[in-house]
Amino acid sequence: MSTATASTPALCPFFINGEWVRPTQLSTSPVFNPSTGEVIGAVPLAGAAEVDAAVQAAQAAFPAWAVIPVIDRTRIMFRYRALVEKHFDEIARTISREHGKTYAESRGDLFRGLEVIEFACGGPTLMMGDMLGNIARGVDCDTMRCPLGVCVGITPFNFPAMIPLWMFPLALVTGNTFILKPSERVPFTAIRLTELLAEAGLPPGVFNLIHGGKSSVDALLTHPLVKAVSFVGSTPIARYIHQTASRHGKRVQANGGAKNFVVVLPDSDVTKTVEGVMNAAFGCSGERCMAGSSVLTVGNRGEHVMGGLAAAAKAMKVGRTDGEAQPDMGALITAAHRDRVVGMLDAGVKAGATLVADGRGVKVDGAPGGFYLGATIVEDVQPDMDLAREEVFGPVLNVLHLDDLEAAIALANQSAYGNGASLFTSSGRAAREFKHRVACGMIGINIGVPASLAMFPFSGWNDSFFGDLHIQGREAVWFYTQQKVTTTRWIAEGVGDVWRK
Ligand code: NAD
Repeated sequence: MSTATASTPALCPFFINGEWVRPTQLSTSPVFNPSTGEVIGAVPLAGAAEVDAAVQAAQAAFPAWAVIPVIDRTRIMFRYRALVEKHFDEIARTISREHGKTYAESRGDLFRGLEVIEFACGGPTLMMGDMLGNIARGVDCDTMRCPLGVCVGITPFNFPAMIPLWMFPLALVTGNTFILKPSERVPFTAIRLTELLAEAGLPPGVFNLIHGGKSSVDALLTHPLVKAVSFVGSTPIARYIHQTASRHGKRVQANGGAKNFVVVLPDSDVTKTVEGVMNAAFGCSGERCMAGSSVLTVGNRGEHVMGGLAAAAKAMKVGRTDGEAQPDMGALITAAHRDRVVGMLDAGVKAGATLVADGRGVKVDGAPGGFYLGATIVEDVQPDMDLAREEVFGPVLNVLHLDDLEAAIALANQSAYGNGASLFTSSGRAAREFKHRVACGMIGINIGVPASLAMFPFSGWNDSFFGDLHIQGREAVWFYTQQKVTTTRWIAEGVGDVWRK
């Protein structure tokens, strides 16, 4: 490995034990600018040796980091928060360039991550234990939260800032050391977040960054010194991570893919429903685990909203997000992913779904190589079509027309996934019924994308989550700590006898 500084290199560096290292001998994976299709970097794929170097550094740093008072660890988080805020625009531009989402969406991505840093700034309160005095005569009992050791975060491409930030601020403030393995598609945001963490004053080895694919992940999952693994990505990989890391004795939380249903009742507010559904379906080009990509209309073929949705989709401007002028929607992450989405759409249309707005064939001036697909709506989708059952992860809204709320709840509950579901209505009774009966972890009532804020768990069910303790909120603090219960008896000479009388 060669040592160097990290200034937007073509070959992305690792950050191990406080040093930027650029491994030149490893095979690499290309990083694209989805807006143009150009290659803008290369990610070296870490093998077992590089993973071991990162784990050893994190392990060596752990004892000293763990005994730093939580209030001092938290001060570093306050400095980190200030640095992220100071460089907010620049980081957002980095996200847009490597991911393809619009500048406004990139700001939202980073802002949601910043909120987790802010939550972690409550470190001392979050770490507090319980105490019960006099559980028996002269005996007190208390709990304290202790860090686990080396923790690992493995993240997907779709939220380059928010998802790593779901993990390491809370892992670090609770006294753990950390290794981040971001998606090989979006390394530059992770590099910038790491640079700022070092600038905030984190000691060497406490946070380490490596890049890679399956081999690096496998080396992390099986390393004997790794204590816990946080994962976010697709369901098949989440299931594999949970099984493999659990088998190797790690604590695991693994968030998977999703299929989120948006139910529209005839009594819903037209403007708010169209706005909410458009945001749910087409925000971040549909590349969101909380995307509301399936609308279930109830009763009237959604006639009060279908016209508005079609008009809004046709009016959406698709384009480059790597410059000053911003479109309504950016490109998809790779050409292969765009082609997969188009393939699912083509199959649905062939099987009888009707196009309401067709984004295929969209052209963006000056960017013929960009990975674009325009906003697309199909209706009369059938429940057994892949479009209705599988995660599409693109700007395709499919609409199923149903007769009543009962049918909508039944259909939503047939899904293998369980991240989120939304209902648009003005009926409190319907909303209550929906909230209580839909089998998923995050419910929106007149809200299209009910992704929970930093102080709440990101609470997927079924095949959207494998593990027990969720990401974010108090559950995340519990995930990154273990409790010690101390039962104490102090015998005061002579006094005990007096009490016993
Ligand atoms: P992905 O599963 O392909 O990759 C996620 C991570 O796993 C990456 O770091 C990748 O390098 C690694 N990986 C890929 N293949 C692997 C393998 N065979 N073995 C071990 N590791 C492997 O996911 P993606 O395409 O980057 O992200 C999109 C997916 O993430 C969607 O399914 C989306 O729903 C899901 N997601 C879920 C949530 C959630 O909170 N539930 C949030 C965001 C994204």
